[in-house]
Parts: sequence; structure tokens; C-alpha cells
Amino acid sequence: MGQIHHSDEEALANVLVEANLSGLEHVAEEVRAVSGALERIRLDTYGVCVDCGQLIDAPRLEAYPTAERCIGCQDRHEQAGARGARPSGGLRGLDTLGQKRLLL
Ligand SMILES: [Zn+2]
Repeated sequence: MGQIHHSDEEALANVLVEANLSGLEHVAEEVRAVSGALERIRLDTYGVCVDCGQLIDAPRLEAYPTAERCIGCQDRHEQAGARGARPSGGLRGLDTLGQKRLLL
């Protein structure tokens, strides 16, 4: 059935669907955040702000291990996103990091 390579994503998708069906948006949100953090670890961009590409402060990461933005960008993001949720631009941080690596 072609699901071999994406069994993890399938399982995660099922969890998300079930959480949504149960009205557990908080759980779905948490799972999404953890999933995003794992993805950033895999891409080696964990701890890097997805907006400005700066390293997120360690105390912030300790308090919010799934944080994807530094405090300044998170404030801006929440103010900008208050009118409607938008998917995070997870690849922008990666681009920034990639450019930094090219420069090194
Ligand atoms: Zn930032």
C-alpha cells in the first residue's frame, strides 16, 4: 500500500486526527510542536530561530523545548498571527543556516 516509508508520519497523522476528533486541540498542538522539534533536530536546525536564524537562548529552550523562535520573533509572530493561525515558515531558518554554513 506504499506506506512503508512513511509509517512514522502515518502514525503521527493518526494521533493528530484522533486528538482533533476528541476535541483535544491542546494535545494536537503539543504533538505538532514536538514533531516540529524532532524534524528540526533531524535537519540540524534545532535551537535556531526559524524567523531570524539566531540561536534561541538556552534558558528559553529549557523552559520551552519545542520553541521554534527566539523571544523577540515569538512576540512579533504572536502579534502578527493573532488574527489567524498560519503555518510556520520552518524552512526559512534552514535557509538562513544553510547560507551561514556556506559562508563558514
Ligand atoms: Zn528570532
